[in-house]
Amino acid sequence: MRIADMNWMQVEEYLKRDDRCVIPLGSTEQHAYLSLCVDAILAERVALEAAHPLGIPVFPPLNYGVTPYFRAYPGTVSLQLDTYLRVIRDMLDSISEYGFKRILLVNGHGGNSPAQTLCIEWMAENPMVVVQFHNWWNAPRTWAKVQEIDPVASHASWMENFPWTRLANVAMPSEQKPPIDADKMRMLTPKQVRDYLGDGNFAGLYQRRDEEMQAIWMAAVEETHALLTGSWGRD
Ligand SMILES: [Zn+2]
Repeated sequence: MRIADMNWMQVEEYLKRDDRCVIPLGSTEQHAYLSLCVDAILAERVALEAAHPLGIPVFPPLNYGVTPYFRAYPGTVSLQLDTYLRVIRDMLDSISEYGFKRILLVNGHGGNSPAQTLCIEWMAENPMVVVQFHNWWNAPRTWAKVQEIDPVASHASWMENFPWTRLANVAMPSEQKPPIDADKMRMLTPKQVRDYLGDGNFAGLYQRRDEEMQAIWMAAVEETHALLTGSWGRD
């Protein structure tokens, strides 16, 4: 359930019977021919579908993340790491204050992973609250499904091309892009990154069949759902 579809009294009622919630974490950044908002769209959608059968509220996604390397691509917005970690900390402080004690962060962007360490630090200071940080796309079952379908998959390739992230009237190249060298990319300026990556796909085909994408999606939703119904480390 979207928190946008609840008022504060309903949240107060919910907290009398449950203490779980979800926050999707995205990024607004180049995704080659796909939407700039792929990471936010996917994180929110997987969160909503996983939480829906349980009636667990899903907060609006944090649509901006840490993505300094893509700053030469128009439309990309990068928060400084320091800013980002403060925003996550403020969100956890607020959300836990009135009674959410089990918080699942569903992350859609690799650059946001320093927040995982922040969560561990924050839990040491707030021992009554459990925060799980979940990279939905490379969680074991979802990643295994991706690898089974096509091992050449990465940022902005077919593996992020779902019916809900592709754009109307935008044609996809048909070739398979060779993998980029991630170690090299880390040494480049944003301008050099753009020159090196071209369209922005890191590796692989640009699109695969919708049935294959559906299989990955099912695995991702089930894997995220299982975290919500699991022990939260307290068994
Ligand atoms: Zn992405």
